[in-house]
Amino acid sequence: MPEIIEPFRIKVVEPIRMTTRDERERLLGDAGYNVFQLRADDVLIDLLTDSGTSAMSADQWGALMRGDEAYAGSRSFFRFRDVVRDLTGFEHVIPTHQGRAAERILFSTVCSPGDLVPNNTHFDTTRANVEATGAQAVDLPAPHGLVPSEPHPFKGDMDVAALERLIDEKGAARIPLVMVTVTNNTGGGQPVSMANLRAVSEVCRRHGIPLYLDACRFAENAWFIKSREDGWADTPVKEIARAMFDLADGCTMSAKKDGLANIGGFVATHDAALARQEENLLILTEGFPTYGGLAGRDLEAIATGLEEVVHEDYLAYRVASVRYLGEHLAREGVPIMQPPGGHAVYLDAAAFLDPMPRTDLPGQALTAELYLAGGIRGVEIGTVMFGRTDPESGQEVPSRMELVRLAIPRRVYTESQIKYVIDVILEVWDRRSAIGGYRIVEQAPVLRHFTARFEPLT
Ligand SMILES: *Cc1c(COP(=O)(O)O)cnc(C)c1O
Repeated sequence: MPEIIEPFRIKVVEPIRMTTRDERERLLGDAGYNVFQLRADDVLIDLLTDSGTSAMSADQWGALMRGDEAYAGSRSFFRFRDVVRDLTGFEHVIPTHQGRAAERILFSTVCSPGDLVPNNTHFDTTRANVEATGAQAVDLPAPHGLVPSEPHPFKGDMDVAALERLIDEKGAARIPLVMVTVTNNTGGGQPVSMANLRAVSEVCRRHGIPLYLDACRFAENAWFIKSREDGWADTPVKEIARAMFDLADGCTMSAKKDGLANIGGFVATHDAALARQEENLLILTEGFPTYGGLAGRDLEAIATGLEEVVHEDYLAYRVASVRYLGEHLAREGVPIMQPPGGHAVYLDAAAFLDPMPRTDLPGQALTAELYLAGGIRGVEIGTVMFGRTDPESGQEVPSRMELVRLAIPRRVYTESQIKYVIDVILEVWDRRSAIGGYRIVEQAPVLRHFTARFEPLT
């Protein structure tokens, strides 16, 4: 038996281009050794992100043709709203162009300067949108989620005792909402257990604080609950997802993840008065409440995607292909974060390229080498992304971890393409001692990882 069986056949193909190492040396050199500066056409296997990169189904492409582009009261909106209501139980559904727009609308409606927003771990746009209101974003990950090498089934959990302490110390009045991110993006999509969600929900109810889900990967999280948590093995994933939403008062969503769409998002709530305020803000910046910055056809594609994403043969394949990549690397001794998450595998570049000093940017060096060796694009999550220059000494302060994330787009790559990725990484692993570091020669004052230019040290 093969380890993975893709639960689809391929009707439309998109050619990808093989290049030679010589070509890639030139292309990456021209890009200042920064993979963000490559043209996607020069990448063979693109694992930069799982966001907006899904392959749509025949039903989704068919639904595009049914899109109703009416400015107000579009048929496609009502279909979209009904699918989201059926999935989440939330009465008020407000479409947005992507997840961060949903976040901005929610936080700028409920947060005031001096407020605190706890989350198991904020995604970067979530944190930025909380902080843009003058509130403080507080990460409360459970301690068992913080040890990279330790496999725990629910490393995405929130630290419930820390949440109670925060509420006791600061007072519920300063906490307009608590958010739980499912799956927790940290570590490549580590799941949150139903028991943890229930405990968080109980604390929130007791203090009268609304609980929101950052629901971007709700279906992958529900699948992990079904396969790992006692008592859920026989419950359909769609019902598990509903049980998760039933513990919350609202959610934000990026349809670019578990919406299986290339764009879109929404914010949803039970609270009618809040929804009205959010709609007023939406009209100002996104669009009328029955399209929210999307085309009618996008709403159709998302509605169909949300119906398809809870299919269990799809989720079994999805999680198996990420695990397959992680397990085949770990078996050969390649250091990765354990266990692999729902959407990505993280290589531990510091351990991979040990004893390269952090100041030689091992995450950048491994990212560059994966492209040079096999045309694979991952992303550095280390000193280039999170390091900073000490204002006193002018010295670079390295990030706590040096990781390379390989995010797997949904329904895009086959088992043999994932095997190719494994082969390339193992080949790089075999000659790791010969790989050199990099230095930054040009950088922007903020978010430098997107545009920085590098130079090999040797
Ligand atoms: C992607 C993402 C967002 C933001 O969504 P966009 O569609 O990229 O704006 C928010 N939270 C999490 C956990 C995400 O993964």
